[in-house]
Amino acid sequence: MGEAERGESAPRARISFWCSNGHETQPSFASDATVPDTWDCTRCGFPAGQDRENPPDPPRTEPYKTHLAYVRERRSDEDGEAILAEALAKLRGEI
Ligand SMILES: [Zn+2]
Repeated sequence: MGEAERGESAPRARISFWCSNGHETQPSFASDATVPDTWDCTRCGFPAGQDRENPPDPPRTEPYKTHLAYVRERRSDEDGEAILAEALAKLRGEI
Protein backbone atom coordinates (compact mmCIF):
# COMPACT_ATOMS: atom_id res chain seq x y z
CA MET A 1 0.00 0.00 0.00
CA GLY A 2 1.30 3.45 -0.84
CA GLU A 3 3.92 2.07 -3.18
CA ALA A 4 4.87 4.52 -5.91
CA GLU A 5 3.67 3.69 -9.39
CA ARG A 6 6.33 1.54 -10.95
CA GLY A 7 6.12 3.07 -14.43
CA GLU A 8 7.39 6.44 -13.25
CA SER A 9 10.87 5.38 -12.31
CA ALA A 10 11.47 2.75 -14.98
CA PRO A 11 13.68 3.98 -17.80
CA ARG A 12 11.66 4.59 -20.93
CA ALA A 13 12.72 5.00 -24.50
CA ARG A 14 10.95 7.03 -27.12
CA ILE A 15 10.71 5.21 -30.43
CA SER A 16 9.85 7.06 -33.62
CA PHE A 17 7.31 5.62 -36.02
CA TRP A 18 6.35 7.13 -39.35
CA CYS A 19 3.10 6.62 -41.20
CA SER A 20 2.66 6.85 -44.96
CA ASN A 21 1.52 10.46 -44.54
CA GLY A 22 4.89 11.36 -43.07
CA HIS A 23 3.61 11.92 -39.55
CA GLU A 24 6.00 11.05 -36.78
CA THR A 25 4.62 9.38 -33.69
CA GLN A 26 6.85 8.88 -30.70
CA PRO A 27 5.35 6.55 -28.16
CA SER A 28 7.60 5.74 -25.24
CA PHE A 29 8.28 2.23 -24.13
CA ALA A 30 9.65 0.82 -20.95
CA SER A 31 13.18 -0.40 -21.53
CA ASP A 32 12.10 -3.99 -21.05
CA ALA A 33 9.00 -3.70 -23.23
CA THR A 34 8.76 -5.31 -26.62
CA VAL A 35 8.56 -2.59 -29.23
CA PRO A 36 5.97 -3.49 -31.89
CA ASP A 37 6.77 -3.37 -35.59
CA THR A 38 3.96 -0.95 -36.25
CA TRP A 39 2.14 1.69 -34.27
CA ASP A 40 -1.04 3.53 -35.13
CA CYS A 41 -0.32 7.11 -36.12
CA THR A 42 -1.81 9.41 -33.50
CA ARG A 43 -2.67 12.02 -36.13
CA CYS A 44 -4.34 10.06 -38.90
CA GLY A 45 -4.66 6.54 -37.50
CA PHE A 46 -2.66 4.94 -40.29
CA PRO A 47 -0.22 2.23 -39.32
CA ALA A 48 3.24 3.64 -38.78
CA GLY A 49 6.55 1.81 -38.88
CA GLN A 50 10.06 2.47 -37.65
CA ASP A 51 11.49 2.70 -41.16
CA ARG A 52 10.85 6.26 -42.25
CA GLU A 53 11.61 5.48 -45.89
CA ASN A 54 9.25 2.51 -46.01
CA PRO A 55 6.17 3.21 -43.92
CA PRO A 56 3.47 0.55 -43.86
CA ASP A 57 0.76 0.74 -46.51
CA PRO A 58 -2.30 2.69 -45.46
CA PRO A 59 -5.32 0.59 -44.59
CA ARG A 60 -8.10 0.09 -47.11
CA THR A 61 -10.61 2.85 -46.76
CA GLU A 62 -13.51 0.99 -48.32
CA PRO A 63 -16.54 0.89 -46.09
CA TYR A 64 -17.25 -2.43 -44.51
CA LYS A 65 -19.31 -4.75 -46.66
CA THR A 66 -20.60 -8.17 -45.98
CA HIS A 67 -18.84 -10.89 -47.89
CA LEU A 68 -21.95 -11.58 -49.91
CA ALA A 69 -22.36 -7.95 -50.92
CA TYR A 70 -18.75 -7.90 -51.95
CA VAL A 71 -19.11 -11.02 -54.06
CA ARG A 72 -22.27 -9.68 -55.71
CA GLU A 73 -20.58 -6.45 -56.57
CA ARG A 74 -17.50 -8.04 -58.07
CA ARG A 75 -19.08 -10.87 -60.00
CA SER A 76 -22.24 -11.19 -61.98
CA ASP A 77 -24.55 -13.93 -60.81
CA GLU A 78 -23.63 -15.88 -63.89
CA ASP A 79 -19.94 -15.82 -63.04
CA GLY A 80 -20.71 -16.85 -59.50
CA GLU A 81 -22.71 -19.83 -60.67
CA ALA A 82 -20.02 -20.90 -63.11
CA ILE A 83 -17.39 -20.70 -60.38
CA LEU A 84 -19.58 -22.64 -58.00
CA ALA A 85 -20.28 -25.30 -60.64
CA GLU A 86 -16.58 -25.62 -61.34
CA ALA A 87 -15.76 -25.92 -57.65
CA LEU A 88 -18.41 -28.61 -57.24
CA ALA A 89 -17.11 -30.46 -60.28
CA LYS A 90 -13.61 -30.40 -58.82
CA LEU A 91 -14.94 -31.79 -55.58
CA ARG A 92 -16.55 -34.62 -57.46
CA GLY A 93 -13.38 -35.27 -59.42
CA GLU A 94 -14.92 -34.39 -62.76
CA ILE A 95 -12.13 -32.08 -63.81
ZN1 LIG B 1 -0.26 9.83 -39.88
